[in-house]
This record gives sequence, structure tokens and C-alpha cells, in this order.
Amino acid sequence: MSETKLAPRDQGAPDYTKFLHPVMVDNYGEWDYHERIKPGVLVHVAKSGDKLFTVRAGSPRTMSADTVRIICEIADQHCEGFLRFTTRCNVEFMCREESEVEPLIATIGEKLGWPLGGTGPSVSNIAHTQGWLHCNLPGSDAAGSTKALMDDLIADFTQEDLPNRVHISSSCCQINCASHGDISIIVQHHHAPRIDHNNMQICELPKVVAICPAAAIRPKLVNGKESVEIVEEKCMYCGACHGQCPSMEIRDSETDTLSIWVGGKMSNARSAPTFMKLAVWGIPNTPPRWPEVSEAVKKILSAYKETGKPWERVGEWIDRIGWAKFFELTGFPFTRYHIDDGPEALSTLNRSAMVRL
Ligand code: SF4
Ligand code: SF4
Repeated sequence: MSETKLAPRDQGAPDYTKFLHPVMVDNYGEWDYHERIKPGVLVHVAKSGDKLFTVRAGSPRTMSADTVRIICEIADQHCEGFLRFTTRCNVEFMCREESEVEPLIATIGEKLGWPLGGTGPSVSNIAHTQGWLHCNLPGSDAAGSTKALMDDLIADFTQEDLPNRVHISSSCCQINCASHGDISIIVQHHHAPRIDHNNMQICELPKVVAICPAAAIRPKLVNGKESVEIVEEKCMYCGACHGQCPSMEIRDSETDTLSIWVGGKMSNARSAPTFMKLAVWGIPNTPPRWPEVSEAVKKILSAYKETGKPWERVGEWIDRIGWAKFFELTGFPFTRYHIDDGPEALSTLNRSAMVRL
């Protein structure tokens, strides 16, 4: 019997140990300390005395193949072919000798023109979801609004003068990709989906009915054809059904707005991971530069910078000063939308530290 050949496994996270810089391999688990030499430049020192210098550059997150090739060329030229990406889409180039750091920085500037930073108490690169480029759900463009926002926050990326690290996330729908951040920008819909009964794809009807977290969708015969109806009093405008069925359109260029949430974190340092809470409701969804979003984020950062204590994350800062003071310092109106009084809130809210995965 001939030997069965299996296709190579190509899904899931690859074995990261194959991609470690040789200095990391030699000193695995034997690191002594690390220091920030200047914004965007770190040194890790091993117990053996080995050092590894890291230069962190803010990537534009969505990159062409040409740009990825340039990144690889820089890694080949200065870093023995090694680099890595952080969870916030920064690119980290690593080298053994301090004398290699400035030539590496010069090459990054010349070939990529990307800013260095995102280390220590700064705004790290903004994590965003796919947006109009790739996904079928977005009511806004997370990639575009993030680019506009980073242009406005460049000084907070390249300097380390905030109380602690600030993670900002941007999500173009309410239900999927964005994870919690110190500050998070999320689209909001304000009415139930519009159903196109003529184009309803009945093969997906059971899934559409089942996916609604509020049990607001039920089967219905419309003009003799199988379709669905939405119980509007139950619908919370999440958009999950639109992801399942394009004939249930929830996006609306006239009424969709953006919201800003604050105080989420994944870290266990000092305090447990926390959920975000609503700070600003009803920001206009105004491509291509979303200036109202930048203005609101800058207000939060400014109040945090002025009154936050060293090492306080945004959520810890708000817990200490209280929400009344937060709204006073930022000038945001406190509205009825800031109070979650939905009858199903307790049983329908996601309970993990992620919005949804
Ligand atoms: S956040 Fe939603 S709309 Fe944006 S890319 Fe993810 S699934 Fe698509
Ligand atoms: S928008 Fe959300 S709550 Fe409303 S019907 Fe669709 S899945 Fe259900």
C-alpha cells in the first residue's frame, strides 16, 4: 500500500521558536533586565552579558507586498534577517551591537519613513480592524480613521510623556474584531436592519435566526416566500445578522455614528483585566479624516496626561478620579445612553475581556 502523504499544516500559529533572533535563542529564559534607551529603542540584557537592541517603528498596519519586501531587506541588511511584529502592529528590528542602532534607524527613515516610538508611557500604534478594504460588515473605515488619528497623535507615539502606555483600538462594526483598549472607537447603528425580502437567501435562514443574540429574528412568509421578520423592540442594532445575511442591511450612511469607549485593558498588572465603558456617544461618521474622533481622543489624552498618576492606565485613572470628574475634565456630555438599562443586559452582554472573537 502506498504511503499516504498529508499536505503540510498551514493553519494556526506557527512555531515561534523557529523565528527567534539567535541572541534570543542563546539566552532563552535567561534575561536579566531591559531599558528604554530613547523612545522607540530598547535594550534587553541577558544574564550572560549578551545584549539585544530593538528599534520599534510604527507600521501603517495594512501593507503592500512591496513594503513587506522593503522591511525584509532592512532586516537582512541590519538584523541577520530577523524581525517581529508586536500586537499593536509595530515592527521591531533587532541587532546585537549598539553601534548598529543608528545605521538601522537611518535605513528605516530612508527606506520606510516610519516614525520610531510606541515604547514606555506613550500611545502605541493603533490596532484596527479590516474596514472597507476587506470585510463585508463595516459601517465605517477603521483603517482610514486610524491613519487620520495617528497623524494627529504622532507626538504621543514618538514621546514618552503619558502616565502609562495607552492602547487605542478602532473597530468598524459593533460585534467582531476590536479588542478592548484604553481608548476604543466603535461604530454604532441606530435602527434595525432593513430586510430585502426579494433577495433573502433561504439557505441561510436557520443561521440568521440563530445568530441574533436578542432572539429578535423569526421566520415569516412574505408574499408566499420564505423570509424573516425582526421584532424591533428586541433588536439592539448589533448587526450580527447582517454578517450572516447581506439581505439584512444595517449600515446607513445617514444615521450611523461612532462612539468612544475607555478604560479597557487585557493586562493583569496591578489590577484585573477590565471592560471598556462608554465615554462619547454619537460622533459623526465623517470620512476621509474623521476630525471629530481626533478631537475627542485628544481631549481624553489631555485630561489623562494632566491628572493621571505615573503608571495609572486610563481605566485606573478614571476609577481613582471618578466618572463625574472624568466627564467634567473632558467636557463630554453624560447622556441616557451611558446607562445600560436594557432588560436583557445581564444575560446578553459578552462576559470575556474581548468584545467578540
Ligand atoms: S470589526 Fe467588523 S466590520 Fe470591521 S473588519 Fe472586523 S468584522 Fe469587519
Ligand atoms: S441587528 Fe442584532 S439584535 Fe437586531 S436583529 Fe440583527 S442580530 Fe438581532
